[in-house]
Amino acid sequence: MVVFDEVAREGHEQTLYGYDKVSGLKTIIAIHSTALGPALGGTRFFPYESEAEALEDVLRLSKGMTYKAAAAGLDLGGGKAVIIGDPRTDKSERLLRAYGRIVDSLQGRYITAEDMGTTTTDMDVIRRETRWALGNSVAEGGSGDPSPITARGLFIAARAVAELLWGDTDLAGRRFAVQGVGKVGSAFVQLLVEARAEVIVSDADESAITSAVETYGVKSVAAEDIHAVDCDFFSPCARGAGLNELTIPELSCRAIVGSANNQLATDEDAERIAQRGILYAPDFVVNAGGLINVYDELLGYSKMRAMHRVDGIFAATKTILEMSNREGITPNQAAMRVADNRIKDIGDLRRFRRSGDDRN
Ligand code: NAD
Repeated sequence: MVVFDEVAREGHEQTLYGYDKVSGLKTIIAIHSTALGPALGGTRFFPYESEAEALEDVLRLSKGMTYKAAAAGLDLGGGKAVIIGDPRTDKSERLLRAYGRIVDSLQGRYITAEDMGTTTTDMDVIRRETRWALGNSVAEGGSGDPSPITARGLFIAARAVAELLWGDTDLAGRRFAVQGVGKVGSAFVQLLVEARAEVIVSDADESAITSAVETYGVKSVAAEDIHAVDCDFFSPCARGAGLNELTIPELSCRAIVGSANNQLATDEDAERIAQRGILYAPDFVVNAGGLINVYDELLGYSKMRAMHRVDGIFAATKTILEMSNREGITPNQAAMRVADNRIKDIGDLRRFRRSGDDRN
């Protein structure tokens, strides 16, 4: 594996390998960009088959965080970390604290939070070694599970899309097909039902379907059929890459708004969706609620302020979709352009040194 070649490809600033022999910790932290602020991104604990696979994932995910933070207008750069191992069997206090000390060595250039395989409780443990761990539990003074606020962002984005498509933000009577009713999906369903939208759900886990159907009185379909349901909104809230050359021809929706990261399997899928006349609200714009929420912990957490900022997803979604229309580019390209412009404009400010010891 040629590490420098991999790192150079997407212009990452720094990659740090950390190891603790006693606990078996093997971690890679990737900082893609600190142009707009400290690189914030979660820690993914996953049994990667190889170190090369772990490196590829952390480089890809950290770059995605740069764009998510920039498009959300936050003063944050992009970073991510992976821990190689099975979170069910390999996680220990020693391992998490050893990891915390490695995060601390970056002195705030990288700030971590939870991701797949890590929890708010894990962040509390990591926080014992570094203050650069966010997404702590409410009991420890943190913001807790970000999922409800991520769902709020989706709801706001769907209202923005409805205004563009039908000239009315009201979602009452609109039909939603929600793929995956885990933490975000179920909170989203609740908001939709409260707004009197019609909801159809699916999940790979039968108990998640039963819970959604019984709690919210919604209908369900088999997991393999949800993307083809005739509806106004398709909402991928499960795994990534669900929008691909096989599923896109079968879509029967007017718009796509969902929380899953990396919904498009390839860049060409954005074109395929546009050619079908379906409006795609870019995932990293509409699912930024969780990031906006943990970011607020840096300011001394205020739920009101976090929610207020998440409501900014309405304007962000509209700006991007209008730019896409006006300039004849896909919504994804428009979102990348907005983020790139912000990285250039605001990132460039740092060339103006305020004093001899200016560290920002
Ligand atoms: P979760 O694990 O709680 O829920 C995911 C659900 O999807 C589970 O119920 C799972 O059984 C189901 N699922 C898996 N494969 C499926 C398939 N093929 N078809 C249907 N259902 C399937 O995760 P979550 O926290 O709700 O996150 C959902 C997605 O949103 C993930 O992609 C995550 O990365 C992304 N996301 C989450 C947040 C957050 O605040 N939690 C923020 C931003 C992005």
